[in-house]
Amino acid sequence: MKIISINAGSSSLKFSLFNMDNESVIASGLFERIGIEGSNYTIKYSGEKVSEEIELNNHTDAVKVLLDKLISLEIISSLEEINGVGHRLVHGKDKYTNSVIITDEVIKDLDEFKEFAPLHNPANILGIQAFRDVLPEVPMVGVFDTAFHQTMEKETYLYSVPYKWYSEYGVRKYGFHGTSHRYITQTVKEIFGREDFKLISCHIGNGGSITAVKDMKCIDTTMGFTPLAGIMMGTRSGEIDASLIPYVMEKEGKNASEIIEDLNKNSGLVGLSEYSSDMRDILEKCDACDEKAIVAKNKYVRRIVDYIAQYYVLLGGADVIVFTAGVGENSVPIRREICEKLHCLGIKIDLDQNSKRGEIVKISSDDSKIDVYVIPTDEELMIARDTIDLINR
Ligand code: ADP
Repeated sequence: MKIISINAGSSSLKFSLFNMDNESVIASGLFERIGIEGSNYTIKYSGEKVSEEIELNNHTDAVKVLLDKLISLEIISSLEEINGVGHRLVHGKDKYTNSVIITDEVIKDLDEFKEFAPLHNPANILGIQAFRDVLPEVPMVGVFDTAFHQTMEKETYLYSVPYKWYSEYGVRKYGFHGTSHRYITQTVKEIFGREDFKLISCHIGNGGSITAVKDMKCIDTTMGFTPLAGIMMGTRSGEIDASLIPYVMEKEGKNASEIIEDLNKNSGLVGLSEYSSDMRDILEKCDACDEKAIVAKNKYVRRIVDYIAQYYVLLGGADVIVFTAGVGENSVPIRREICEKLHCLGIKIDLDQNSKRGEIVKISSDDSKIDVYVIPTDEELMIARDTIDLINR
C-alpha cells in the first residue's frame, strides 16, 4: 500500500510517499513559495533529485504538479496506487485525542480552532482542500500535533490563572510535537518489548519540547498554550515571567504582538548570543571563547536539565531518556553536557556510543541507572502509519 504524508504550510507543501509494505520512502520533496513569485519544487526519489521553478498559484496547483511528476518520473504508474493521504494537523484543541479520518466536520473544527494556531490551521486546511480537489476519492487522515498530550491531568494542563480564562477562552496547556513524542514512545516500546516504562522524550531541534510518558501516555509536556513555552529554543525564549511583557512594550514602544514576535523569533539562542539560532554556529563560537555564545549554550543545556529533573520526580523515576530532532540527534557535545549534569540521577554516558550518528543508539553505559538513547524521529512515518491504520479499519 502507498501512502502520502503531507505537511502543508501557508506557502509550502512537504510530502513523503511511503511504500507501507516495508515502511520505505519511495519519494519525498518540497513545494515552496506557493502563490508567490519564484515558486518551485524539489522531488527526491531513488537517488535522483529533480528541481524546477514553476508557477504555483495555490496549493491545488502544487498537488496537481506533484501527482503529475510522480507519474511522469515513473515513481508510480497510476494515481490508483495511492491508497491514502495523511495530513499533519497542528491544533485539535481538546476535541481530538487521536488521529481521525478527515471529514467536513474536521475541516470546520480546524477553521474554528484557528485562533489557537493562526499560521498553521489555515495552511493545513489549504493542504486538505487541494487533495480533495485533485484526489476526491482517496481517503484522508488527520494527525494532530496536540493529540498525544490530551492524556494530561487537569491539574497539569491548567494554568494557575482565573478559571474563566480556561472555561470560557480555552486557555490551558495543549502541548505540541505530539506526533514526534508518540513515534519515540512507540519506538521505545519496540526496543523494550513492553509498554510499562517511564520515558522522558527530548525533542530538541530548532523548536523543542520535552514530554514525560508513563505506560505509553503523556503525563506532562513543556510546550503550553502555544509552542513558546518550556525549554529555551533556537529563536523562542521558553518560559519567562509574563510581567516583562508590558515593561519591554513601554521601553521599546511596541505592542503586545510585537513583543510576542520577539519572544518567538528573536529570543532563545539567537537572542542571547546575538549571533545565530543554529546550535552548530553557537558551538563554533563557544570554541572561540565567545562569552555570549557560552552563556546561551549553558542556559540552553540548563533548561533541558531542569525539565528532565522535574519529570524524573513527576514520573517517580525514569527507565529511559531519549534525545531526538536536529540537536538531539546530531549534537554530541550537547548530549554529553546534559547527561553530565544529570550525573546525580545515576546517568552515565558512553562517550564512544555518544559519538555515533544517524541511527538508534544507546548512549548510556551499562552501569547507568537510566538508559539513554538517541532515536531519529520520523513524524512523516507516524502520519503514514496512522493513515493506513484508520483507512484499514
Ligand atoms: P525544526 O524544529 O525546524 O524541525 P530540526 O529538528 O530540523 O528543527 O533541528 C534543526 C536544528 O538542529 C538546527 O537549527 C541546528 O541547530 C541543529 N543541528 C543540526 N545538526 C547539528 C549538529 N551537527 N550539531 C548541533 N546542532 C545541530
